[in-house]
Order: sequence, then C-alpha cells, then structure tokens
Amino acid sequence: MERTFVSDLKAGEEVLVKGWIYEIRDLAKLKFLLIRDMTGIVQCVVKGDELMEKTKDFGLEYSVLIKGKVKESNVKAEFVRPDIELVVEDIELINKAERLPIQINDNNVETELSTRLDNRFLDIRKPKIQAIFNIESTIMQAFREFMVKENRAMEAVFPSIIGASSEGGTELFKAKYFDREVFLSQSCQLYKQMLACSLERVFTIFTVWRAEKHNTIRHLNEARQFDYEEAFCDEFKVMEVLAKVVQFMVKELLEKNKKDLEILNVELKVPETKYLTFEEVRGLMYKEGVFCGEHDLNTDAEKKLGELYPDTIVFVHDWPIAGKPFYIMPKGEGLSGGFDAIYKGMEIASGGQRVHIPEILEKQLQERDLDPKDFKDYIDSFRYGAPPHAGWGMGLERLTMLFLGIQNIREVVLFPRDRTRITP
Ligand code: ATP
Ligand code: MG
Repeated sequence: MERTFVSDLKAGEEVLVKGWIYEIRDLAKLKFLLIRDMTGIVQCVVKGDELMEKTKDFGLEYSVLIKGKVKESNVKAEFVRPDIELVVEDIELINKAERLPIQINDNNVETELSTRLDNRFLDIRKPKIQAIFNIESTIMQAFREFMVKENRAMEAVFPSIIGASSEGGTELFKAKYFDREVFLSQSCQLYKQMLACSLERVFTIFTVWRAEKHNTIRHLNEARQFDYEEAFCDEFKVMEVLAKVVQFMVKELLEKNKKDLEILNVELKVPETKYLTFEEVRGLMYKEGVFCGEHDLNTDAEKKLGELYPDTIVFVHDWPIAGKPFYIMPKGEGLSGGFDAIYKGMEIASGGQRVHIPEILEKQLQERDLDPKDFKDYIDSFRYGAPPHAGWGMGLERLTMLFLGIQNIREVVLFPRDRTRITP
C-alpha cells in the first residue's frame, strides 16, 4: 500500500499514513493521536483493547505508521485538518523519541530563542516554524522561476574563497588555504560583473560572510543574497527587474502558501513602487524632523520611509558617490548611479550602474585608499568591449523577515551564524 500525505486524505479512503505523534489525548476507552507529516496534522482515533494496549507507551514525537479509514469529521484543534479524521485499524511504531528538550505542540509556550536554536531540528517541527521555511522555500523558487522564465537570465555559481578583499569596507573572515591566507567572500560582486559583461544576464543565490561585530536583529555574519546583474542597461532598468521579481514572489506566496500565511497570521500585499532621489529623501526627512544621514540613510530614515510608503518598494537613487563603493558609476556633482531599495522600513537591496571603464575604476579605487594592483584581473576584464551594466544584491533573510513581519532575523534562518552562535 502506498503512503498518503495528510493534506491528500479524502473521506471514504483506506490509507497508509506515516508521521510523528504531535499530541496524545487519552480518554479511558479511547485515544486521539494527532499525527503530523510534512503536509499537515490529522486526528487519528484509536479504539479497542488491542490497539489501546499496543499504543499505551507511545510518547510525543514517536514516528509511527498507521493503516486506517478516513471519515468525515468536525475537528477543532489548531493546525489540525478540521474536515476529516482517521479511524485507526493498525498502528506500528517506527522509532521512539527521548524526552523532548523543548515543547513542540503548545503554541502558547514561549521558549527562549536561544534554547529553540540549540534544538533547531526539533523547533522546525512546530507548524508555525515550518510555515516560515515553507515560505522561504517559495521565495527562493520564485526568484529562480522569474529570472529564468520571465527575464531570460541564467543561473551561475561563484567561488566563496577569495584571495583579496573584493570591496574593501566590511571586515572579512580570514581562513587558511594550504600555506596562504585567504578570505571568505563578502559578496560575488566582482564575479557577477565579469559574467554580465560576457553573458549579459546572470543571477545567483549566494552566501556572504561579513565579520562585522554588530549584534542586531537585522544582521547575520553569514547571510544569503539574491544577486542579479544585467548588461547594456542602467540602474533604472534593474530597479524595474527588482520590483518585478519581488512582486512575483508575493504573488507566488499568495497562491502557494495560503495555509502558511494563515498560520503566521500574515496579510501580504503585492508591493507598489516609488522612486525618489537621495536629495528628495533628505528633503522629506527634514520636513519630518528625522535625521537622515549625509551619504547613507540611517535606520530612522529607513523606518520613516516605511511609514510614509507602506507596502511599497521605495527606490532611493542618485545616491551620493561618497556613500557607495568604488564599482558604482559616478554621475558628476557628487552623485552616482547607485541606489538602495527600502521596503517596510528597512533596506532590502543595494545596487546600481557599475563602472565599466578601467580608468574610472582605478581613480575610484585610489580615492578609497585601495590599490588598483590588487584588482588587476577585475579591471582587465573590462578592456574587451565591456558594455554598461547594472545590478543589485538583495538579502534573502531580510526580505523574508519583512514579508512576515518577524522582528529578529535569526527566526528566518534555519541555522543562524551570529557573533556567538556557530552550532548547530
Ligand atoms: P546594511 O546597511 O543594512 O547593513 P549593507 O548595505 O551593508 O546592509 P549590502 O552590501 O548592500 O548590505 O548587501 C545587500 C543586501 O544584503 C542588503 O540590502 C541586505 O538586504 C542584505 N544584507 C547585507 N548585510 C547583511 C547581513 N549582515 N545580514 C543579513 N543581511 C544582510
Ligand atoms: Mg547596502
């Protein structure tokens, strides 16, 4: 007999179900087992001396196999299928569980985050936590689907070990590589540019490492980025691509993750877009009495933009060149082709038109006290018909936490790496 998933159970069918015991409700002559698999939870009715005896020592999170008949019902328990139940005809133990270090079936018990993360493999069995990662999975799939099917881009993979700092600025993690010193990549910036200048449209989901000693609810030391780069275009073209891909992600979530969004009590709207120059934002912030920042938006300004433009991706462009890295194209008058995208009060992405002219690159490197010699391969790659190009990097975890209204970024990472945590 083939196994049926909980979400596919239909009244009247004889089925085989496999899963874990989420909850046990013991009445004298009768027992309800709530059985959870990856698709949902079903109430199973255990009756009769033989089955009662067989299940008398069963505990929470034991994995079991059940044969039985599905019948219509009216079940009232959170996360459990309301329309049916399973009348158990036979049940077998697959494997026992030890005493649980965290409670899985009570959503009113708030276990401390660090205890939950220590036991993440159990924590993800909770329906609410599983819902987060179902959603994150759809977000990643939607990115790939949009890029390949709607945007004619190709997926690429890039090295994570680099010989020299790719951008300057952020602190890098050092590692030993035989008898040399190397770094873990802080972004795939230089690689995706080199690729775009030959293959035009490339994307990747890339892991980045940043040795910043911050301890905030929006930073990780290991994070994932959606990266995109396109040739023969400027920053406005790739802002449009960013807006479309985020809108596509939300549409996919609304269609494919209805149940997960319900479990998390999240109401998502397909975002609109708003374009403002950095100078316009400064003006707005002045009017609102919020300190903005000279070359960069500080967190209060980002928050304010979220209040002024709810459910909107705000593109802040014509950014002061002083606030952008060396590979962003200068526009004159202290401005650049760089932009940030702010959504729900937080930066979700940075991007811009890149410099494809070696002399400008060399000049901008020197202005930032970086040595052009360290960037020779990169600079040389633009000597063979490099077209104007632009792109962006958008944080996967940032986007997920903002979609879901989750406060701490660690909640949306299966196994987060922050300043103190490197296990599990
Ligand atoms: P922030 O100013 O918010 O610290 P950043 O400007 O240093 O971010 P970028 O280098 O522009 O970050 O990276 C692109 C995107 O990747 C950011 O907009 C953000 O969504 C995400 N991101 C960057 N750093 C982190 C981090 N430490 N943890 C989680 N996400 C990050
Ligand atoms: Mg940025």
